[in-house]
Formats: sequence, C-alpha cells, structure tokens
Amino acid sequence: MKYNEMDQDTYNLFLDTLKRYVKERMVPAENEVVEANEIPEHMLEEMRNLGLFGLNIAEEYGGAGMSASQYLNALTEMSWAAPAYRAIMAIGNGIVNTALTKNGTEAQKQTWLPAIAGGAIAAFAITEPGSGSDSAAMRSMAVKDGDSYVLNGVKRYISNAPFADVMLVIARTSSEDLPNNGHISAFLVPSDTPGISVGKPDKKMGQQGAQIADVIFEDTRLPASALLGAQEGNGFQVAMNSLNNGRLSVAAASLGSSKRALDSAIRYGMQRTAFGDQITSFQLTQAKIADSQADIYAMECMLRDAALKLDQGLDIRLEAACVKMFASEACGRIVDRVVQIYGGAGYIQDYEAERFFRDSRLYRIFEGTTEIMQLVIARAVLQQYEKGLA
Ligand SMILES: Cc1cc2nc3c(=O)[nH]c(=O)nc-3n(C[C@H](O)[C@H](O)[C@H](O)COP(=O)(O)OP(=O)(O)OC[C@H]3O[C@@H](n4cnc5c(N)ncnc54)[C@H](O)[C@@H]3O)c2cc1C
Repeated sequence: MKYNEMDQDTYNLFLDTLKRYVKERMVPAENEVVEANEIPEHMLEEMRNLGLFGLNIAEEYGGAGMSASQYLNALTEMSWAAPAYRAIMAIGNGIVNTALTKNGTEAQKQTWLPAIAGGAIAAFAITEPGSGSDSAAMRSMAVKDGDSYVLNGVKRYISNAPFADVMLVIARTSSEDLPNNGHISAFLVPSDTPGISVGKPDKKMGQQGAQIADVIFEDTRLPASALLGAQEGNGFQVAMNSLNNGRLSVAAASLGSSKRALDSAIRYGMQRTAFGDQITSFQLTQAKIADSQADIYAMECMLRDAALKLDQGLDIRLEAACVKMFASEACGRIVDRVVQIYGGAGYIQDYEAERFFRDSRLYRIFEGTTEIMQLVIARAVLQQYEKGLA
C-alpha cells in the first residue's frame, strides 16, 4: 500500500509546532500525568486540536495525511516526552488505521477513520490471559447468529481500554484451528456496546498515564457490519500486517526516549563533579555517551530505512522486526547507562533517570517480545535461503 505524504513545507511547520508543544507543554506536565496516571482532559483537547490523533490517517478521512516516514519522525519527537502521550494516539493512528485502510469496507472507513482523526481513542485487543506471543491460540470466540455475531472472551493488558471509544478485537470465528490461522477474524467494536466490561487498570512498572486493563466480552452482540472488511478468517493476517506499523511505532518511541534520557544524563553529568572534575570529563563516562550516541544513530538509520520501504509499499515484516528488536534493546542499554551516569541519584525518584529506566522496559515486551522478533527475523532470513533468493 502506498501511503500519503504531507507537503514538505506544511510538514516542517507542523514539526516546529510539535517540538514547541513537546518542550513547553508535554514535558512540564509529565509529573502531573504520571501522578494522576492519566493525561488531563485539557491536554487531550490540545492534542486533538493539534491533529495528533489523525497524523497518519488519509486526508480524505479527516487526517493529516502524513507518510509513514513523516509520522514516525513526529512520533520520535513526541517520545521526548513521557510515553503516555504516544500511547493514547498511536494505536488509532497506527494499528487500527492500518487495519481499516487496508482491509476495511468503505462504510467502516467512513465510520471510524474521521472519528479517530478527530480524537476518538482506539484500542487493539488480541492478547488473552492464556495467549500472548502465541496469539493464534486465543480462546475468544464470535459465533454467527443470524445477522450478527455473539462475542465471548477475555482480552488482557489492553492499552487504552479504560478510555477507548473503539476497539479492534481479534477473535475466533471457528472453534477448530484452520490452516493459515483462518479461524481468526477482526471486529470493530464500539466500547459502549452492551456486554462489554473493562477491568480495573493494572498497576504497571512504568509508563504511568498510559493505562491497560482486561476487556471482558459476555454475550456481546455485534452487527455483521462490525466484521472488518466483511470477511471472516483474515484476522490474523490483519493483525500481523498492522503490527508491522505498531513495531515501527515502538521503535520510534524507543528512539525518542533514548534521546531524552541521554540528554538528561549529559546535562546532569556536566554539572556534577567528582575528584574535582565534571563527571562528563571522565573517559569512562564518555564511553557511555559515545556508545549511546552510536546506538541512537543506528536506530535513526534503521527506522528511516524501514519507514521509507513502508512508504514504497514494500513488505517490511523483516525490517519492522529488526528495528523493533534493535531499538528497544538499544534503548534498554541506554537508560541503564543513564542511571549509571546519575550514580546514586539514578536510583532515586526525585530524579528522572529511574523513570526513564522503568518506562523503557516495556519496549522489549509489547507488540512482540524480543524473542518473537528473533523468530520472525530468523524465519524470514531462512525462507530467503529456502527459496534460493539469498
Ligand atoms: C503495558 C502493556 C501494554 C500492552 N498493550 C497491549 C495491547 O494494547 N493489546 C494487546 O493485545 N496486547 C497488549 N499487551 C500484551 C503484550 O503484547 C504481550 O504481553 C506480549 O506480546 C507477550 O505476551 P505474554 O505476556 O503472553 O508473554 P508470553 O507469550 O507468555 O511469553 C513469556 C516469555 O516467553 C517468551 N517466549 C514465548 N514464546 C517463545 C518462543 N516460541 N521462543 C522463545 N521465547 C518465547 C517470550 O518472549 C517471553 O519472554 C500489552 C502488554 C503490556 C505489558
């Protein structure tokens, strides 16, 4: 699929505005967001007014029509600030937008894309208590009943569930496991549909302000029009394709968080002295800065390349897994070095280094763990050999 592109002058203006908003509004409000464990409504309204909920949605559906490259660059800028800001807008712009744009019926696109671009909050529900990495083993089941489906099951760790207006729910439409995961379908579900309840938000290690919770479906009756693309059996494919986009989004978040954390460590190290010298004057500190900067540059290059390929309509399954794995692991290394540069202060909540450390741990887990990325990468590489393409 070829993505849109915003004209460069408009994009540059937007980016200047976004950078100012991040520095002047999002960063100063971080502590409030973290302590309240939610983004205040007035800031959500500002984010909506800036068009952040529809950056990657096509203009014809009310979005800003950015290319993947432009969008991911904007996400990187936003991820200088606390991760909660990205979490609330990235699922609608990313996974749900991709699924709708590629697979939705025109009526589904008309219903949901303008709503999301205007600030409706989206969630993506595939994980269950008994299945995460092995998502095709899910138990949730939608049974056809006349002109509707009746959905039962529990989804776990669903980002934005407590705030969501719409959910892309992946569920079985066959109790038998079918070839190519043909037992799995995708549904667009308004959160206020009778028969849906949302559990208490989970207490997480980090990323406060972003919330996750269980979503419970009990005889939830969905009209047939909720079935994505009016087609059963392609839900797994839809989820995996959309996850490519989600993985680049996590890479952008890892990159933005890494830049922020390194900047914080350098500023701290320049004013902190030991043995009569700045911490940053020590070569062992400089090695940490150098290794982190090299990691950041590698992330930037990989993300730029993968985004460009996505814009060219190429299959980026391999690249998305590589950049997600590399960026999230590199971010983990960087925030660990940042805590070390801070010394004792790195372990104390009055300073920001320990939050960076906790917030970043998630990047290696969600949207496919590092181990699952390794499997995806190895499988894709080996397939090239099997097909004689290597
Ligand atoms: C904060 C947060 C937000 C989330 N948001 C969402 C969301 O919005 N929507 C959603 O659907 N899900 C969401 N998730 C779920 C997340 O995607 C899963 O937790 C993740 O994919 C891992 O699944 P799991 O927790 O079941 O781990 P498991 O699958 O139980 O894996 C446990 C460990 O085993 C390893 N492992 C599993 N299989 C293999 C294998 N074949 N080879 C080697 N190692 C393996 C894993 O890598 C991991 O280290 C979220 C999770 C969190 C914590």
